[in-house]
Amino acid sequence: LIEMSGVVKNFTRRAGLFRSHRVEALKGIDLSVRAGGRMGIVGESGSGKSTLLSILSGLETPTAGTVRVGDVVVDPGDQSGLTAMRRDLQIVFQDPYASLDPRMSVAEIIGEPLRSMQVDRAERLDRAEEMVEAVGLGPDALTRFPHQFSGGQRQRISIARALVTRPRILVADEPVSALDVSVRAQVLNLLADLVDDYSLTLVFVSHDLGVVRHLCSDVAVMRSGEIVEQGRTDQVYDQPAHEYTRALVAASP
Ligand code: ATP
Ligand code: MG
Repeated sequence: LIEMSGVVKNFTRRAGLFRSHRVEALKGIDLSVRAGGRMGIVGESGSGKSTLLSILSGLETPTAGTVRVGDVVVDPGDQSGLTAMRRDLQIVFQDPYASLDPRMSVAEIIGEPLRSMQVDRAERLDRAEEMVEAVGLGPDALTRFPHQFSGGQRQRISIARALVTRPRILVADEPVSALDVSVRAQVLNLLADLVDDYSLTLVFVSHDLGVVRHLCSDVAVMRSGEIVEQGRTDQVYDQPAHEYTRALVAASP
């Protein structure tokens, strides 16, 4: 369902007025996720996890390589291709405070992805109502605004918004890292249930190996822009082939 091949991403970063240097954020990524697969991506800060997701979702253009989601070749320059792809692939970001527009009601926020698909207002409201319930919030949430919710509840709203288009693929970038430890498990359990209920293909980025083991069938281990190892989660965790993975597993509680 997802196929990334030879994906390279270089950023040019300014290092002073006249100097700049090149950051090789991704150095040739090959990654495929079958329909129904649950791919975890782990690796330390700066290893390129978020960059990989941005390219997969068409938010950034790769320097080289190709990305395919379903039948669509992902190309940020191809608006109609992106629109088709977004129906299928939705994202939940790390920070529910930054990613929800404070001026919009929850009903508007959740219904928003449907607007660009020309779904009319009444239908958007129906679907928002359905999703609010699916993520365990009461119907009274619809007329409220993001600031009236806790971090965990906001992340439920983000998840509702992501799933309102009935995508086949859910991409999540550290979706619980910004949350209080006590609500992390609740949101993760919700995610796990929804992935089952909607038969989603999941791409889940986290620096928490335990969470990935719980949620993902497969895992890719990233280090400085490369995938050093990938395979079935149990296999990779129990018999890591790469020394970096061994160190990562040994360091995780
Ligand atoms: P974290 O776990 O901290 O979220 P990450 O694995 O998601 O880290 P990325 O955000 O993908 O890492 O960053 C990979 C590298 O690319 C880093 O060196 C980062 O500084 C650089 N980078 C990412 N985005 C940009 C950008 N827009 N401009 C310049 N450099 C960038
Ligand atoms: Mg990141």
